[in-house]
Amino acid sequence: MAGERILLVEDNPQNRRLAQFLLKSQGYMVYEATTGEEALGLARTHLPDLILMDLQLPGVDGYAVTRHLKEDAATATIPVVAMTAYAMPGDRDKALAAGCDGYITKPIDTRGFPAAVQRYLASAREKGGGSGYGASGADPGCG
Ligand code: MN
Repeated sequence: MAGERILLVEDNPQNRRLAQFLLKSQGYMVYEATTGEEALGLARTHLPDLILMDLQLPGVDGYAVTRHLKEDAATATIPVVAMTAYAMPGDRDKALAAGCDGYITKPIDTRGFPAAVQRYLASAREKGGGSGYGASGADPGCG
């Protein structure tokens, strides 16, 4: 659905550019982070509808960022979809263990990627997580 807000965490400029292009083509609003620290800051500030998380990041990697997000009540309900290379089969289990809600393989499939993002957003809406429309302006107070 157009207008949904996505946090794209990716340190590789080419992957980031491609993912951003595909997401914007779908009408999503995209925040970009290139480090784990930046990702945590943007997630807490903007409470996006979905986070696409490169697992291989310099410094604080995507696993650690996801664990932090899932431990924090303010960000715990935001779906996190891991992005990592297809060649690393163990990553899938590690990503799910860290709290990721799903998994997209790289290299990014320009046809499959937008559809996958759409599915994750739709399933998050069905679950009715706390990060829906207008949530960013609401006080999550009672936690
Ligand atoms: Mn990377």
